[in-house]
Amino acid sequence: MEYDQVREVDPAVADALAGELERQERTLAMIASENHASEAVLEAQGSVLTNKYAEGYPESRYYAGCEYADDVEQLAIDRAKELWGADHVNVQPHSGTQANQAVYFAMLDPGDRILSLDLTHGGHLSHGHPANFVGQLYDVEQYEIDPETGYIDYDALRDLAESFDPDVIVSGYSAYPREVEWERIQEAADEVDAYHLADIAHITGLVAAGVHSSPVGVADFVTGSTHKTIRAGRGGIVMCDEEYADAIDKAVFPGGQGGPLMHNVAGKAVGFGEALEPEFTEYAEQVVENAEALGERLAEHGLSLVSDGTDTHLVLVDLRESHPDLTGGDAEDALAAANIVLNANTVPGETRSAFNPSGIRAGTAALTTRGFGTEEMREVADLIYRVVDDHDSEDVIYEVGERVDELCGQYPLYE
Ligand SMILES: *Cc1c(COP(=O)(O)O)cnc(C)c1O
Repeated sequence: MEYDQVREVDPAVADALAGELERQERTLAMIASENHASEAVLEAQGSVLTNKYAEGYPESRYYAGCEYADDVEQLAIDRAKELWGADHVNVQPHSGTQANQAVYFAMLDPGDRILSLDLTHGGHLSHGHPANFVGQLYDVEQYEIDPETGYIDYDALRDLAESFDPDVIVSGYSAYPREVEWERIQEAADEVDAYHLADIAHITGLVAAGVHSSPVGVADFVTGSTHKTIRAGRGGIVMCDEEYADAIDKAVFPGGQGGPLMHNVAGKAVGFGEALEPEFTEYAEQVVENAEALGERLAEHGLSLVSDGTDTHLVLVDLRESHPDLTGGDAEDALAAANIVLNANTVPGETRSAFNPSGIRAGTAALTTRGFGTEEMREVADLIYRVVDDHDSEDVIYEVGERVDELCGQYPLYE
């Protein structure tokens, strides 16, 4: 991947792009929301569709010249329907956050009530954090993870729903390692006559491949990001029953957005097409096996995992027991110095702050794309443990960094 044209007109940006390519090649990408899109997806995203205005929807646009934009968007829609089995799909949201915004905007009035998981327990900003528009426009109450088990406390959620009487219950999370029981949340929603929004941002790929149960057909609305485990072009998606189709489409455009990012929609179409191939199911299965192997090995080293394991692509490590003096932020920094890139994360029952929390979150989606299997993941766990346990040692960081370099060389990213 050369950036010749950019280099000719803009060497400073070309340097940054080449630097980023090299960074991705030479580091272990373990931020759980990240993945490595294929060159086909990247090419579609970098295409001439960035030039095209296509406000509206296929066959019903506000601009002329949309015949190819229509083709691309219809392909993305049809493939998404096949992947997730939804009645209606909108592929235009610029991001997962804007997909959620569309659902709120379609179904709620300002001041209406949202019940969602607390951010420090694994929720997302767009589920009602005070710094986000959702927290400011709506009345938000939050449920929690049971700090003893690390699982969602479904009974407490149900009680809270009864007392709070929400208009929407939001499920789907950013840092939850376990399979979500969609039906139990649906039951709570039914009891109080609330809508259920299932935000599968992280697990879109796992759900599409059938390695995680699907909320489609259970929840009223399913939203997601299209660049996480599903590995397509960057952006968001909304799925719903036909009865809400018009409301959702209007809430996306003109409600919350202007012209769709048609180049990203093309990236979504290509990535969804890739995900329909049988290899993608194998990939998603491997992602979960790799996360299990990573978690088991970290636990063998004595690290404590929230919920004691994982059913998904991520593990959440609570450092407080094994390394009470080490914050997630310091662990993140030391690991980054050894070219292992993951993020500090709050844990259920957090006793520090969101800025410097007590945990680290690690995902396997990107490394699995690179070709890592369970054996490599166990070694990665050993490397993570060495750095965590000896985070002040420059020698350890250097040695681990050298081994990371070898592993990256063995599994090149973009040839
Ligand atoms: C990542 C994520 C989103 C959306 O993120 P964007 O960065 O806006 O695409 C939404 N919900 C959850 C639970 C997420 O983890």
